[in-house]
Amino acid sequence: MTVRVPAKVNLQLSVGPIRDDGYHDLVNVFHAVSLFDEVTAEPSTGVEVAVEAAPGSEVAVEDVPTDGSNLAARAARLVATRLGVEPAVSLRIRKAIPVAGGMAGGSADAAAALLACARLWDSADEPVLSKDDLLELGAELGSDVPFALLGGTAIGLGRGERLTPALTRGVFHWVFATADGGLSTPAVYAECDRLREAHGEKVAWPEVSEELMTALATGDSKALGAALHNDLQPAALMLRSPLRRTLTTGMDLGAIGALVSGSGPTCAFLADSEEHAAELAAALSGVGVAKSVVRASGAVPGATII
Ligand code: ATP
Repeated sequence: MTVRVPAKVNLQLSVGPIRDDGYHDLVNVFHAVSLFDEVTAEPSTGVEVAVEAAPGSEVAVEDVPTDGSNLAARAARLVATRLGVEPAVSLRIRKAIPVAGGMAGGSADAAAALLACARLWDSADEPVLSKDDLLELGAELGSDVPFALLGGTAIGLGRGERLTPALTRGVFHWVFATADGGLSTPAVYAECDRLREAHGEKVAWPEVSEELMTALATGDSKALGAALHNDLQPAALMLRSPLRRTLTTGMDLGAIGALVSGSGPTCAFLADSEEHAAELAAALSGVGVAKSVVRASGAVPGATII
């Protein structure tokens, strides 16, 4: 059973005040892009995990755990518990999504493993686990996991896990600049809180951007480029200052929008056509501001059995 699952970029990530449980209320507009991990699940004796880089990708697979802490392994155990079966599965993860890159690679693998194990262990005639059940199990594993199941473009509220599909038109073309070494998501949120406190910033309740929704609904890539927004960007730039140069270089080379993806350090650049994306990717590769440069388009569907 093999499942293909996309990376995400956050078109809007607005971080509200910190809550009593330590999380922030978010407005998180997720967009699934055609950069995929694949998870293959096969019957075995216990939960086993093997991770490899997809052919041609430069993903740092050595940074991915292969023990029970791997998010795909946790997903497998969760499905097994829910179905009352032994978690006896071998999971082979083929990664093209950067590790700790702000593109939710771990969450994507968890979503893929949920779907693969559910189909492996559930009854073919009368499945116990519906798509909604998988979304619920996904939310237990992490706030980005339900979106990796759903795909497309969606507004996530709460911690990001309460999803509503967004109306979009056409295809958007992206170029991603990956960086050496990841950024820890909790560290970036902590830096965001620290910066806000240091500046005495009054944190507003996050609202969905009207400009962004209109740009998506009309398929207007220039308007989309102007509406991209990430509240975590100042924190990511503070922790990884070379990203400033990556972002300005991409804009100087003609991108119609640029932002740090999620908690970074991957930078996302919007192009206004496939050809423009190819030119931008070639130009960005040439100036050496990124570990690797990858093209992708969105929106694409979520976790899918292949
Ligand atoms: P997000 O965008 O959701 O904040 P991210 O893309 O920045 O996440 P991930 O690639 O999901 O980060 O990885 C974060 C950490 O999770 C890694 O450093 C790694 O130790 C751990 N991890 C556990 N399982 C996986 C997995 N299957 N793939 C990648 N990382 C994993």
